[in-house]
Amino acid sequence: MYKTQTNEKVDNLLDVTELSVFYGKLQAVKNVSFQLPKGEVYAVVGANGAGKTSLIRGIYGIAQYTGSLKFNNVSFTPKTNRFKAGIAHVPQGRAIFGDLTVKENLSIGVLGIKNKTSQLEYLLNLFPILETRLNKQAGMLSGGEQQMLAIARAMMSKPSLLLLDEPGMGLSPKLRMEVYESIKKLLDHADHDMGILLCDQEIGYALRIADQLSVMQKGQFIWTGDTGSVTIEELSAKYMGLKA
Ligand code: ATP
Repeated sequence: MYKTQTNEKVDNLLDVTELSVFYGKLQAVKNVSFQLPKGEVYAVVGANGAGKTSLIRGIYGIAQYTGSLKFNNVSFTPKTNRFKAGIAHVPQGRAIFGDLTVKENLSIGVLGIKNKTSQLEYLLNLFPILETRLNKQAGMLSGGEQQMLAIARAMMSKPSLLLLDEPGMGLSPKLRMEVYESIKKLLDHADHDMGILLCDQEIGYALRIADQLSVMQKGQFIWTGDTGSVTIEELSAKYMGLKA
């Protein structure tokens, strides 16, 4: 916990201090620090190769990293099991099982998790399109539906932190907006404290749903602020090369 300038107490879900991520000698993330308070969406935007995926991989413990990671005020080591701790990761490219049905996809990875049925009901309420597709092969769904399925599947374990890597990738603007609206609803409707770390290439969608945003370039955060304090035009003009 820390105090803001207004002395309001903020309960941090994730505290990242001087995180660096390496692939052998290549340093993809360079001393990045930020805090994700409970109940918020934190967006990291940046162009191809900026280091967004590596940041997520470091936090999830699947890439070599240095620095300090605290989750709910508990320090992580590289070996801490993130899934068991309450973190879910939706990697780039959806990662669903195309040959299995929607229902089967949702049942995977929740062995030992209590209240599966109520969580399934809650998620189908949030993503009604999935309810109409339950017995359909996941590979036959549209891109937006597959993305919603990937997010819903990650949510089956009732995580406190959801790591989303470019959830709108490859989707039309309309589908993309639908997916982003669903992401925002996750926080609005969750029955427990949770937060979302969202990585994206485009500022516009991220600005709409995030509370705080950092612009990443060459492994570093070059701008961080509240999303209410800046416009898409200001950010994209300042950081040429990023799409609004
Ligand atoms: P994109 O939006 O294209 O996914 P990104 O912002 O997620 O990009 P990263 O994938 O994190 O960027 O890549 C950051 C840097 O790390 C790049 O220079 C990339 O070439 C390098 N990199 C990423 N993955 C690996 C890997 N497995 N081995 C070696 N280098 C890697």
